[in-house]
Amino acid sequence: MLESFLDFVFPTACAVCKIPPSPLCDSCVPAFGVTKSSLEGTPVWYATEYSEPISRILTAYKDQNRTALITYLAPGLLQAVAEAVLHLGSCSICVPPRNQINFRKRGFDPVLSLITAGDKLALRHLPINTLRFQRQVRDQRRLDKPERVSNILGSMKAIPGSKRVLLVDDVMTTGSTLKECMRALGAAGYEVAGICVLAKRNI
Ligand SMILES: [Zn+2]
Repeated sequence: MLESFLDFVFPTACAVCKIPPSPLCDSCVPAFGVTKSSLEGTPVWYATEYSEPISRILTAYKDQNRTALITYLAPGLLQAVAEAVLHLGSCSICVPPRNQINFRKRGFDPVLSLITAGDKLALRHLPINTLRFQRQVRDQRRLDKPERVSNILGSMKAIPGSKRVLLVDDVMTTGSTLKECMRALGAAGYEVAGICVLAKRNI
């Protein structure tokens, strides 16, 4: 209640400590450093662990439409993508399918907005838009781990293709969304060479 009141009075206050006037004050700007991990044998590059302050910044960005935060978040994701491309060579970028309910609520696609906010020349091209939901899914963030798996498993399909793909998302928690992306892409003929996320929850 107090938070939403402060957001109303100071719409550009820091997303973490709520002190105005910038969307993120100097002491709350997250530090990025790319780390390599893996998901079912596929390499994963991530820019930061999913903890404070990044979790709060991402919530403000995605659920309170604080799009001014793109400036602070995009560099982290682009660092992870640059590191992945360095190791993998040229790849097509692919993002998870858009959840239409969230998209209607927000009016923007958080992952695509982060990618396209960066240096497009460094990325060479925009993401291929090949993954779709073939049935309705619930917002994964509101579910526990077993629910996430049953919610997402078999939910996606891809337009057939044969490209090498770098899968890019904002957050990896249990990995169930990214695993379903890999399954759908693999079934359609693509090779998922790697995964990049801005923030990864290390359990
Ligand atoms: Zn702050």
